[in-house]
Order: sequence, then C-alpha cells, then structure tokens
Amino acid sequence: GQCITHCPVGALKERDDTSKLWEAIASEDKVVVVQVAPAVRTSWGEEIGLEIKEATVNKIFDALKKIGVDYVFDTAYSADLTIMEEANEFLDRFNNNELDERPMFTSCCPGWLRFIKGQFPHLVPQLSTAKSPMQMFGSVMKTYFAEKIGKKPENIYSVAVMPCLAKKGESEMELFYEEYAGHDTDCVITTRELVRMLRAAHINSNTLEDIEPDKLFEKSSGAGVIFGATGGVMEAALRTAYYTIMGENCSPDAFEVVRAESQDTGVSEASFNLNGVELRVAAVNGLGNARKLIEEIERGEKKYDFVEVMACPGGCVGGGGQPIHDGDELAFERGKNLYFLDKKSELRYSHENEDVKSLYENYFDKPNSHKAHMLLHTDHNSWEMPRSPKRDRNGYVINGF
Ligand code: SF4
Repeated sequence: GQCITHCPVGALKERDDTSKLWEAIASEDKVVVVQVAPAVRTSWGEEIGLEIKEATVNKIFDALKKIGVDYVFDTAYSADLTIMEEANEFLDRFNNNELDERPMFTSCCPGWLRFIKGQFPHLVPQLSTAKSPMQMFGSVMKTYFAEKIGKKPENIYSVAVMPCLAKKGESEMELFYEEYAGHDTDCVITTRELVRMLRAAHINSNTLEDIEPDKLFEKSSGAGVIFGATGGVMEAALRTAYYTIMGENCSPDAFEVVRAESQDTGVSEASFNLNGVELRVAAVNGLGNARKLIEEIERGEKKYDFVEVMACPGGCVGGGGQPIHDGDELAFERGKNLYFLDKKSELRYSHENEDVKSLYENYFDKPNSHKAHMLLHTDHNSWEMPRSPKRDRNGYVINGF
C-alpha cells in the first residue's frame, strides 16, 4: 500500500491496485483489456526519463503487452464515442428548451460529480447522462468486444490507466447487461502505479517500441486526445455539434478560444452563432472556480447553454494520479502537449472516426439509441461516489479512494 497525499479533489490516501492487476494477468481465465487515458501520455515519461517526444502512448501499449496484458486501447477512442453521445444529447436538450434556465454540465469527471451531488443537488438533472469515456469503454469491452472475441463479460478484466484517483471511485458504478451484473471497469491504476509496475517488471524504457492499439478500436481523433486538458471536452463537442447543425465541418481550430491560456483564470467562455442559433459555453477547471461560476449562474449574472467542469487545475493532465514534482505545476505544459498531438493528428473530428462509426453500424445503431442508453448512459442518482474511504486493519484504503 501507498500513502500519498496529493490530490486536488481531496482524496487523501491512494489505494494501490497494482496487485489486483498482477493477479488478473496471472489468471488463466481472464482476458485483460487495458485502456490508457489521454493525460497519461503527457507525464509517464517524466518518471522514467523519457523525453516528451519519446514517451508516446504507443510505447505504453508495448510496455503493457510486455507485462502480459492481452489487449490495449486508447481512451481517446471512447472519448470520440462520448462526444457522439454527449453532443447529440446536448442538441436534443437544447432544442427541447430544457436548457433555457440552466446549462447542461459535462459528466466525465468524478471529482466534479461528487462535488455537484454534495453541494448543489438540485443541479444533478442538468448533468449530461453520458458516462465518462472510461466507463463507456469498459461497457463496450464487456459487451460488443466480449462478443466479438467469443468471451463472456465475466471473463473480460477491464482495466483503465488514469491520471486520476477519483476514477477508482467512479469504477464502482454498476453495469447490468443481460445475465451479467458487475462493473464497466474492474481496475483503475494511476500513472504512478503504471510506472511502479513497469519498474517492478524491469521494463527498460529504451527497448520499448511504438505499437498500435488492437483492432476494432484502433482509431482515435485529436478531439478525443484533448479530453485530458481543460476545455478539451467542450472543444471536441463543439466540432461535432457544428457539423450536426451546419452539415459541414468547421475548421478544426475554430473553437480554440475555449482552451485555457493560463492557470490564473480557471474559466474560459465563448458564444457562437451557428446558422442563427446562439450557443453560449464555458469551461472551468478547479472546484473553487466551478463554485464561483455556479453561483453566478444561480444569481442570473451568467447565462450558458453548455458548461464543462474539471475538478483538477488544468484538467486531467493535473490529476492526483500523475507524477509529482515538488513545487512544480506541470498541468498546463502537459495540456499544451495534448493540443500539439491534436494538431498533428490526421483525424480531428470525433464524428469522422471510422471505428466509432462501425460500432454504431454493428451495435448501437445511432447516438442515444435505446441500447446506447442502456450501456453508455447512467442515472446519476442511482450510484454514489464513495464518500469516506474504508480501510483495512493496516490502515490501507480498500474501498474507493
Ligand atoms: Fe480525475 Fe480528471 Fe476529474 Fe481530476 S479532472 S478528478 S483527473 S477526471
């Protein structure tokens, strides 16, 4: 167990889940399927002495395969899937005048979910019902992917490498699918835990090669990659909302105004007129900034249609599971790296991801379909983030974070 006190969303002890993952890798009847979140690629190299250009997500895939993982995927893929669900949900709710009084809020940050449920419970209905990319990917692994590889959901061990401690709590959200009752995500390990595992397995970073994620969910867009930086979810959603409203693509950087330029402001806001439709949006990072913004909305001083909230300063790149350097706040530097990766990506729009399109063609039919609702959305009142950690007799956290 570890005792590390560094989490912007107030998790005081870090639960160590590496032994759970080692056990699953050693188990004969588990197919271990791992997804890696966008923010992890910006920071894991800091710990093992790889330059930022060298420390690609593709080398993480190679390292995971070398320690015995069966399948590797990029959470940026399911971020594209989240955008399809969430942008369409937003436009539906907007067109049905459900957002006349108050905005829709993003729902992919569990630190934010716990905050809004505790502090502003009357706003819970304003949350998007979309699960986070982590949970959506887990759900797809247990269902469509399990079917495709001829396995049962219970034989799939779904793992997420995340920059975040609160994601350990989020993974307790339940999944019911035909005969199966369990979880979308079985195990969450942080960037720091990943690095510890690679060290324990004596993986030499100089021998790692760039390998592609496995088939079925191989492609991901730059829009999915910027999910890891504050403003990124909003920007990705706007690229797809624009396409849906206008019938053509915007320039990929048309909405860069929602990116955070510095740590000081905490909020970026903008309004756009698309074919006579006025959209007002904001992206906020840090829960103190979120509280201020909500109070302004509640007093009627601010009016938005769609608001992105990330609990950690700078977004997930500044998450509590990332490498720690005393006195250095690297979140905004890491965020710039994600925008650089987006810029050089061939695919910049979630709705153009061929592997997402084929998932709809073969399985979900269309965004917000009945099946999509069953597997990719949640009722935020039906589950709770663990409030206080349970500890075992040695004082290690065994439940939540
Ligand atoms: Fe986790 Fe990202 Fe939210 Fe921080 S901003 S609590 S890292 S999901």
